[in-house]
Amino acid sequence: MRHWPNQKLFQLTVAATLLLAIFNCRASTLSERTILPLPELSTPSLSGISPETEETPQWQEHKVKIRKNESLSTALDSLDISAATTYEIGRLKNSNLLTNLRVGDELDIWVDKDRNLQKILYPKSQITSYELVKTSTGYYIKENKAQVEIRTETAVGTINGAFYLAAHKAGLSARSIMNLADLFAWDIDFARELRDGDVFKVIHETKYLDGKYIGDGDILAAQIITEKGENTHNAFIMRDKQKVIGYYDEKGKNLKKAFLRSPVDYVRITSKFSPRRFHPILKKWRSHRGVDYGGPMGTPIHVTGSGKIIYEGWGPGYGRHIKVQHAGKYMTVYGHLSKFGKFKKGSYVTQGETIGYLGMSGLATGPHLHYEFRINGKHADPLKMKFPAAGPIDKKYRAVFKKQSSLLLTQLDRLDNTTYLARSFE
Ligand SMILES: [Zn+2]
Repeated sequence: MRHWPNQKLFQLTVAATLLLAIFNCRASTLSERTILPLPELSTPSLSGISPETEETPQWQEHKVKIRKNESLSTALDSLDISAATTYEIGRLKNSNLLTNLRVGDELDIWVDKDRNLQKILYPKSQITSYELVKTSTGYYIKENKAQVEIRTETAVGTINGAFYLAAHKAGLSARSIMNLADLFAWDIDFARELRDGDVFKVIHETKYLDGKYIGDGDILAAQIITEKGENTHNAFIMRDKQKVIGYYDEKGKNLKKAFLRSPVDYVRITSKFSPRRFHPILKKWRSHRGVDYGGPMGTPIHVTGSGKIIYEGWGPGYGRHIKVQHAGKYMTVYGHLSKFGKFKKGSYVTQGETIGYLGMSGLATGPHLHYEFRINGKHADPLKMKFPAAGPIDKKYRAVFKKQSSLLLTQLDRLDNTTYLARSFE
């Protein structure tokens, strides 16, 4: 699950994206894209057959735009195609590919001189189109995928002011900037911790269709250098076929921690962990053995680590609450919920999944989440915890990862040299 590491970055990104939309320019127009010859890291293309043009001159081509309350059958009707043909298409096993139309979709329909339907071409997206083809035995629908070219490109920048602007200037799309912040989210708070002079380097994939940039793909490697070179954070991708397994540092250590920093996004801490505090309802001094997050009713609560729900119920103090047992000695507790999520007691949950919603059940003066972190049954302060890393790279990937990451590290280092070289010639 992807989530914004913090609200400030999210707002920055939204603001900058809007600005971009207004000025109608794209990241790639602002920088030169460098293409690196990297060995077999990119998974090439969605295999594709390109749409064929097989119509004969006797066919008439009609372009039909789907408007409100229109469908494939109204489109065919408008071209005087028989109801029997429409019925036949509707009975094809994958007819939904052509009947799930949206307002604004455009169909290319070919009809012969006897008003017999010969072909329909429905461009679903830039990459995918569906085609109805007529053969001697009847119609069938096939999928066409355009050949997407995956390129490997780089972005390097030095922060001077806002990170987002520097990253954007370096040619990263809003999506890649979000991904970059996400993959370092456990180590670096991009809005608060980065300083002027900090350096970022990214090797990432971009997608092209007919030589035209259509979007960014995965980040393959990234490096953040902070404190005048004192501190270097590396991230390297591990993929199995198309699927991203995770990001690891140069030693194969998972960049993710076993626990999220916080179970809720975009909310404020209203009460910290303390051995003694004045309880607003009980009107007496009592210890507060968790952290309170204030926020709107119904804010989704993410389980901070993978584990098993061992309790889901009601208690006089905690109200509606959930206890999750994690690997070994860790347990987390989520209290004052307005509602439970879809998981029942005994379910296994994965880090980041929504297990409930913020509320004020039990002893609470206002809507907030009471979050506890326990180690061997003893309450700990989650804001001060050094969380253990999530699992290291799987044994079966280790050799491949080692080879790929060291190649990528060399590329990152080379990026460094070219930057400094470029600078000295300025
Ligand atoms: Zn509390």
